[in-house]
Amino acid sequence: MDEFLGIASHELRTPLTSITANVQYSRKQVRRFVGGSTASSQDEAIACLRRLEPLLDRTDRQLARLDRLVGDLLDVSRIQSGKLALELAPADLCDIVRDCVEGQRASSPDRNITLALLRRCPVPIAADADRIGQVITNYLTNALRYSPPGTPIAVHLLVRDNRARVAVRDEGIGIPQEEQQRIWERFHRVPGAEHERQGGSGVGLGLGLYLCASIVERHGGQVGVESALGKGSTFW
Ligand code: ADP
Repeated sequence: MDEFLGIASHELRTPLTSITANVQYSRKQVRRFVGGSTASSQDEAIACLRRLEPLLDRTDRQLARLDRLVGDLLDVSRIQSGKLALELAPADLCDIVRDCVEGQRASSPDRNITLALLRRCPVPIAADADRIGQVITNYLTNALRYSPPGTPIAVHLLVRDNRARVAVRDEGIGIPQEEQQRIWERFHRVPGAEHERQGGSGVGLGLGLYLCASIVERHGGQVGVESALGKGSTFW
């Protein structure tokens, strides 16, 4: 627990530090024009705003990261206290999968994410569409994180009898056999895997897969992984 608190605090503080620095820099820039002693030209003001724009984009991304971390922590506490409410409604699994894939393609445009819908759409299900989307997005972000930039990610949607399976395959670092059960546990991370994470997004709290398993099981479904070290993983 102590180790988890240490990691969680660090993970929360990293985006906060960068947001604070961005706000301070922006304030300094704005002060030069508002209330400054020397008159500035319109061109100078526009140049300043242009400099601030990428800074605001980065701040947005850090805020989204904080939002995800806090959201995961809240979800874990809801699950622990039996208060994770699902809003089941008729939904189309094809739509959910497509939206998640498009979302990740937009945020990682340099990665090749293929989608194979192995049955004619729609695939009607009764589900909390946001929560099922959260699971697929989590599989996708892990696949992107734990595989090298040039490798593809493949998403499949398969229907057999009246069961549907969504699988996300990567050609990344893989997971040792003895860890494949434990990764679904709360706080569990594969030792050493953080060094191979892509995108410099910290070490991770080890909550994502625990949340995925809880959400899918609450829908009456199952989760699993097939993986070979150094070859890649398929999460379904
Ligand atoms: P984290 O935030 O640490 O990524 P998760 O619960 O999503 O938490 O994952 C738990 C652990 O499982 C990760 O720390 C990583 O070691 C391993 N893992 C998850 N997805 C993959 C993947 N696609 N390839 C290799 N390892 C993975």
